Amino acid sequence: MNGEILSELILGKTISESIYTELKERISSLKSKGTTPGLAVVLVGTDPASEVYVRMKGKKCEELGMHSVTITLPENTTQEELLKKVGELNNDKSIHGFLVQLPLPSQIDEKTVINAIDPKKDVDCFHPTNVGKMLIGEPEFLPATPAGVQQMLVRSGVDTKGKHVVVVGRSNIVGKPMAAMMMQKGNGADSTVTVVHSRTKDLPGMTRQADILIVAMGKPNFVTADMVKDGAVVIDVGTNKVDDPASPKGSRLVGDVDFEKVKEKASAISPVPGGVGPMTISMLMANTVAAAERAAR
Ligand code: NDP
Repeated sequence: MNGEILSELILGKTISESIYTELKERISSLKSKGTTPGLAVVLVGTDPASEVYVRMKGKKCEELGMHSVTITLPENTTQEELLKKVGELNNDKSIHGFLVQLPLPSQIDEKTVINAIDPKKDVDCFHPTNVGKMLIGEPEFLPATPAGVQQMLVRSGVDTKGKHVVVVGRSNIVGKPMAAMMMQKGNGADSTVTVVHSRTKDLPGMTRQADILIVAMGKPNFVTADMVKDGAVVIDVGTNKVDDPASPKGSRLVGDVDFEKVKEKASAISPVPGGVGPMTISMLMANTVAAAERAAR
């Protein structure tokens, strides 16, 4: 590449709006046949960030005309009590999908709880059955954040076929499923995938090879312009709260990518906020609608 690169913004906020428009049609079709898609969210304790996410999910359900249930349990809830609630939701016909908001208090084992969720209602796609199905290319659900990233690429017209995708981060929630999805056969995938993490030698040397760079580290502004190839597509999953005395709140959200500098080099880039964040909720809603459609068949 030479000369100026005018980078295109990949705005999850805008893309998610068109997803909601499509979902509304599917929801009204389901309702006309007597099914209202239902999502339940279980929140244990009073983690402020979790409370915000749970409120956002409930609000979006209501906007879409879906049935929404929020179950709030006290911080000292036992694992048995939570498992009982999970069992009730598994058997509740009005609930097509549900999730238990993470993190959970230390007396509760997250894996035991996730394993107790009926895979058909596991709209977070954390249950090992659903992770396995995704890996073999026969997904029941796709995990919301990586699915959101994939939709951002597809709906922005980014060609992924044969492209080198470098995923920074290997968490079970973002990095690993992201890599697994991009290496599948088909539209929005068919990529050659490299996953890098904190034990990777020469991280900048690896990220510079990316045609499409997907960053999910949780390290504010870590990816600098010298780590990005000219013309690369950059998707920033990172969501980090940093101090900002100039802001009325005293803080602001930034991604893992040094947006201002990297946008001078990238052909397309997603901002934070307004990038991956809004996509995650839209994919959760899409999973719930898909679960309701399957249940209604
Ligand atoms: P984790 O902390 O679980 O994983 C972070 C990953 O980044 C790890 O694999 C870690 O490597 C790697 N990493 C950390 N530091 C470095 C480094 N210096 N060099 C190379 N690799 C490094 O985070 P998540 O995957 O859950 O989340 C990542 C970010 O995405 C966070 O900011 C989070 O808030 C955000 N997020 C945003 C969502 C959204 O909807 N927008 C949804 C989910 C997450 P190692 O494994 O070796 O430790």
